[in-house]
Amino acid sequence: MRAGFPDFRLGKVLATSFTGTLSERHGDAVERIPTPHRLVDWLAVNDLAVASCTTAQLDLARELRESIHAAATAAALQDALPASAVQVINDYSVQGRAAAILTPEGERRWRLSPASCVEDALSVIAADAISIIAGERDGKLALCASPTCQAAFFDTSQSRTRKWCDMNTCGNRQKKARFYANQRKNPGSAG
Ligand SMILES: [Zn+2]
Repeated sequence: MRAGFPDFRLGKVLATSFTGTLSERHGDAVERIPTPHRLVDWLAVNDLAVASCTTAQLDLARELRESIHAAATAAALQDALPASAVQVINDYSVQGRAAAILTPEGERRWRLSPASCVEDALSVIAADAISIIAGERDGKLALCASPTCQAAFFDTSQSRTRKWCDMNTCGNRQKKARFYANQRKNPGSAG
């Protein structure tokens, strides 16, 4: 971790962890990959290590990120997918070189070659986005209930009733807000 930059929020789903690198989209937005180096760091912690990243490649990553966000949001709302976002996701999926690897535990992993570049890593993220938007995986796309967030997340809970993209941030804040609102309504009560 490099000091002075916003932390990463690490989720279990690659594509929505990636869209989560821009948080509070409807409030005071926090850019969690503000520099090319931070994108390299983010890819490394997500098992997609690449040697280097240019400013132009960071721009590509953000273009893909916002396209996934747009398509995932539409899918969560059961709206038609925006054609331009679909095009961008497909373009990035096609251009990369990555191999699906079967682990001894029977799980699928992606492997980049040692000479992999940012575009190869982005193709893996695009493929991951395709698999959740296409409904191939066990779970449901939903939008975070926090009004300043509204991030698309992949709900894998049994009941499919998860409300927040992240329990530790949005979920907690919402709970606290409700607690204080109750206290104001019922002064003197323990809430
Ligand atoms: Zn949220």
